[in-house]
Amino acid sequence: MNPTNFHFNPKDASLRERAFKVVPSGMTGHLDASVLPQGYPQYFERGQGCHLWDVDGRKFIDLMCSWGPNLLGYRHPTIEQAVQRQQAIGDCLNGPTPRFVELAEQFVERSAHADWVMFQKNGTDATTVCVTIARAATGKRKILVATSAYHGADPWCTPRPAGVTAEDRAHLIYYTFNDLQSLQQAVDQAGSDLAGIMVSGFKHDMAQKLEMPTQAFANSVREHSSKAGAALILDEVRTGYRLHKGGSWEPLGIRPDLCAWSKAIANGYALSAVTGVDSLRDAATHIFTTGSFWAGGVAMAAAIATLEVTDQIDLVKHLELIGNHFRQGIEKQAAGHGFKVNQSGPVQMPLILFEDDKDFSKGLKFCAHALSNGAYLHPKHNMFLCLAHTMDDIDLVLQATDKAFQALSQSSLR
Ligand code: PMP
Repeated sequence: MNPTNFHFNPKDASLRERAFKVVPSGMTGHLDASVLPQGYPQYFERGQGCHLWDVDGRKFIDLMCSWGPNLLGYRHPTIEQAVQRQQAIGDCLNGPTPRFVELAEQFVERSAHADWVMFQKNGTDATTVCVTIARAATGKRKILVATSAYHGADPWCTPRPAGVTAEDRAHLIYYTFNDLQSLQQAVDQAGSDLAGIMVSGFKHDMAQKLEMPTQAFANSVREHSSKAGAALILDEVRTGYRLHKGGSWEPLGIRPDLCAWSKAIANGYALSAVTGVDSLRDAATHIFTTGSFWAGGVAMAAAIATLEVTDQIDLVKHLELIGNHFRQGIEKQAAGHGFKVNQSGPVQMPLILFEDDKDFSKGLKFCAHALSNGAYLHPKHNMFLCLAHTMDDIDLVLQATDKAFQALSQSSLR
């Protein structure tokens, strides 16, 4: 990585300028790189394994993994072969391909709680379908969600208020993740109208310390749902396959009634899924939900291949191994350079926040310097590790972060 390139990415700048004219604000949602530190690219040319190349030819070791979908490595050969085989014979046809049934069988077999599955494309599709099924099954309206948790970008859950009516959110009641009392209060407020309680695999709200669910909280969510005859909905969109293949609350011994999956399940190909228990099969049968591309064979072939690969390895163990190496390395470097950092979340989905950094100026600078030394980190959102990251890759990332700490210690942000 040539640090002199750092402030000048002409192709990226030109694409942003062109996009600005033909796309509102140039880029929407989480892919808007203007909120990232200076030097971060918005446009990428290609990916391979755990590496990304931006349009200006800079190569990075990627710790965002396309915000989750890259589970096994970009262009993983087994996935790409399955994709090419399916692409050669048909993707979007008058109806699903046999991959639909093959994947459904295999998916249900591996999701610990699941008796059935329905497929969609995006995470928002899946969380929305879960809410619809919970309401259809119970005939009730209230859905409990954790304050500031992200469940997607439809009006009922988008974090921005523009274009959203009060009616869109009228039947949401908020609780605080891991707070039993606030959960009880939300349940009480819902009264006899409780359709479902939605939880994330762990608390992974943007720009906040990550928090694993406590056993007491998970038990309480299960008990309240069962007692009220409401659905426990696990939003596994971000956590899926990285914490536990059968579902991230499996280690807690708590099973959801409905679960929303997406991101990693097809290693980067567009697919989401809702799994559910038998008692909700009837409601799932009666709702109307579909999409022109939802049964596409290519993403399903990719998802089958992803299961094949993950069956042959202990993915979680690998992610934990490299994740621990990264966490310990950062810990040591921060102490060595005199910084206090807070590392939270499971090691395979790490977040590094600087203490005394309310405006994130340290975090932003740190990431900018790491980027200029070849490591693509995120200052506020949890990062993601993948199977393609090796110990050597993590060592290279740590070399970049060491230089970033060094640069920061020499700056006014010390
Ligand atoms: N739920 C969670 C927990 C997510 O992290 C996301 C995406 N970041 C979604 C739902 C929405 O997924 P998508 O962007 O694919 O609609």
